[in-house]
Amino acid sequence: MTPDAMPPQPPITVDATTKVAAVTADALVIFVCSRDGRADLGRGPAAAIDAATGGLLTRLAAAGELHGKPGECLALLAPPGLQVGQLVVVGTGAAAPSDPAAPYRAAATATRHLAAKPRTAVALVADPDWTARQTEQAVAGAAVGMVGQDLFRAERRRTPFPVVWLGADAGAVERGARIGAGVNLARRLVNMPPDDIYPASFAATAAAVAADTGLGCEIWDEARLVREGCRAILAVGKGSHRSPRIVLLTYRGPGVPEGPPHLALVGKGVTFDSGGLSLKPPDGMLTMKCDMAGAAATLAAAATIARLGLPIRLVAALGLAENMTGPAAYKLGDVIRARSGTTIEVHNTDAEGRIVLADVLDVVRGLGPAGIVDAATLTGACVVALGTEVAGLFTNDQAWCDRVATAARAVGEPVWQLPMYPEIYDDLIKGEVADIKNIGDGRWGGAITAAKFLERFVGGIPWTHVDIAGPAFAEKPRPWTDGGGSGAMVRAFVELARGLG
Ligand SMILES: [Zn+2]
Repeated sequence: MTPDAMPPQPPITVDATTKVAAVTADALVIFVCSRDGRADLGRGPAAAIDAATGGLLTRLAAAGELHGKPGECLALLAPPGLQVGQLVVVGTGAAAPSDPAAPYRAAATATRHLAAKPRTAVALVADPDWTARQTEQAVAGAAVGMVGQDLFRAERRRTPFPVVWLGADAGAVERGARIGAGVNLARRLVNMPPDDIYPASFAATAAAVAADTGLGCEIWDEARLVREGCRAILAVGKGSHRSPRIVLLTYRGPGVPEGPPHLALVGKGVTFDSGGLSLKPPDGMLTMKCDMAGAAATLAAAATIARLGLPIRLVAALGLAENMTGPAAYKLGDVIRARSGTTIEVHNTDAEGRIVLADVLDVVRGLGPAGIVDAATLTGACVVALGTEVAGLFTNDQAWCDRVATAARAVGEPVWQLPMYPEIYDDLIKGEVADIKNIGDGRWGGAITAAKFLERFVGGIPWTHVDIAGPAFAEKPRPWTDGGGSGAMVRAFVELARGLG
């Protein structure tokens, strides 16, 4: 499969005139919230549909079949009084204070269900109580839910379809469609096999996406990495015949004057992680094509920020390497002098992401951004601490971390901060013969010692590290998404960028 640019997306349009009950379509989707544990049909589209169907929704609610709970998805075939093949009623949970993730997940649940068969037209009705942000998230969710993992399947399990939104602001729909395309780009990159997505092909994809979205793009190949002194990322790549790359994407919003970046995004892109000589067991290796999810999220967020025309200066850096066991592979006990001059003692070649990021963070630091955020599937320890759905946050600057957390929570991406006490953790990564070693003392606090390692390379610039080892990849499907790449942090990074500049 050859790398291409933004994934194609069926049209997402707005209908501002048709009344909800008069829609003709394969399917009509409405959203119902719950109040005191009961479906709230009081007003808006649900009330109009209830009236047009002779009280169908009221009867379902009275019979205990419809509650408006999150995840609830009721498909009613050939509903009386409507001109649609089916009516899909999706629950969003309590109305207020609304879970910011609810519209995204509810819309994705509906389209995931409908995409099981080909459709020519599906209408979705925005909840009149949604804010513009929530409408955007619902539109994005609808675009994401209908896309599955069928990259190589003759018989597709999900067939994307055109969507018409009713009762929604046209600008919010347009923005939501772009955000959804960004999430789908990250998912597709993560889902692609490691023999297709490797450092050079990932870089080529980034260049295609950049050309498509108006980002500047500079690719550092092996020779350039040697010239730039990027010995850390080069060391990790030595065991593979596919050499590493660093990709630098730049963006300046319309009318924004030149200057240092407001935001630097950095992504870990280990396109396949065998563990190197500290080899992973087969079970742990199977999903290691996902070890580039941070770089995928970073590229997708940058592309989306550019497509939204946000008024900021952005740099996004991808550290791309394959961690293999070839004859030149880096070894335990090796000492690497990173680009910054800091020396790194290798105690475990499977803790390679932080070594890759050491050089990428140093490159970005040199550009003088106001704030850095990196995304990395960095540690299993973070998954042990927080589970598979919550990203870990680590920082050297509380105000900056708070902004990242606020942005993530505003779009319903769960995050949780872990501590960075210098007096407790700094000593744990001291090397025997070098400045630092690439794992902590023993197994405790492994997510934090990894963050402590990264902190050494940001030069005191406000920085937040997001460990997405849990949420980046879903082993099992959920009602609102197929398994595989999730596109975690794309929406959060776009939201963060909106508050800057
Ligand atoms: Zn690893």
